[in-house]
Amino acid sequence: MLSRRQTLKSLAALSASLALPACQAQERQQQQAETSQTRSLASAAQTFHPFDFDKRTVKLNNGIDMPIIGIGVWTLTPEQAEKSVSVALKAGYRLIDTARMYRNEEAVGRAVRNSGIARKDIFITTKIYGSGDYSNAEAAINNRLKALGVDYIDLLLLHYPDQNDTQAWQVMEQFVRTGKIRAIGLSNYHRKTFSRIMEVASITPAVVQNEVHIYNQDKHTKEFLKSYGTQMEAWYPLGGRDSYGKGGKDILFAEPVIVTLAQKYRKTPAQILLRWQLQAANIAIPGSSNPAHIRENIAIFDFSLADAEMATISKLDKKTKFSTFGGE
Ligand code: NAD
Repeated sequence: MLSRRQTLKSLAALSASLALPACQAQERQQQQAETSQTRSLASAAQTFHPFDFDKRTVKLNNGIDMPIIGIGVWTLTPEQAEKSVSVALKAGYRLIDTARMYRNEEAVGRAVRNSGIARKDIFITTKIYGSGDYSNAEAAINNRLKALGVDYIDLLLLHYPDQNDTQAWQVMEQFVRTGKIRAIGLSNYHRKTFSRIMEVASITPAVVQNEVHIYNQDKHTKEFLKSYGTQMEAWYPLGGRDSYGKGGKDILFAEPVIVTLAQKYRKTPAQILLRWQLQAANIAIPGSSNPAHIRENIAIFDFSLADAEMATISKLDKKTKFSTFGGE
């Protein structure tokens, strides 16, 4: 910090060197300071991103940190799920996405317990499924805790909109209050269905998990969620598997823009698709039982897509889903 005398001295020197009267030099110095402040604010605004790429987390609207890349275990048998989660945790993943409907929560719980990693450092998401669960949510949630073999669930989602979901939401809120769930959210909800939950909610959903990939960017829902501070999470981040007969990963892996970027960055198309998800501020939970793919899918923190490349990918949105599940 300069003293007033030093400032006047440096202004006098500046005015001498520029052959300007002292008052003009002072004005110019002030203008320069303002311009550089405006520039740095503009660049801070440009570079602001909700994700912490060093810690690989995002702060949710209830203040807790959630990992931004995880492993999804849909369609994996219990044996595959246990092995995949073990490989993933060794490779640095800290987020696991399961559901009652996947029938592998016990296996996920075993892999977590056997990992040697502290429970607090692993983030487990599970879901309750349909009106049967929603109308008896307390038992459904207690069964999730039991199946996983955990004292608390990090994130519990309603799997899809169905009868009694508002009732279930209120029960989920009770579990948050007692510390058995850290965050609650929705899956396959969009503006209308989200608003229906908000009519009864005293806790705003922390996350919405929807089918999101380069051909179905769900920009409408994302824009809508901004005012709630609700974080988007992408299922089918690679385009998905074939269970519904229309798995899209091979289509997205062959998308010319993605192929070109993969060549440029010496990465695989899967890695470009996942890096895009993170830079677009979507949490991604790619699914795989192949150890090489599991490791590949998290090796996406040593490069970044340029703004112009993100803009090009943004234009690839066709608003087409690969799955028939999930509503609109
Ligand atoms: P995905 O987009 O992650 O694609 C998975 C497919 O890509 C699989 O066939 C897998 O073998 C393959 N794959 C993965 N990594 C690869 C790589 N590096 N190279 C080549 N192929 C690779 O689709 P998904 O697994 O179905 O979805 C991800 C997760 O999202 C699921 O496991 C599940 O946890 C969640 N999910 C949620 C819902 C929901 O309704 N909430 C619906 C579907 C999926």
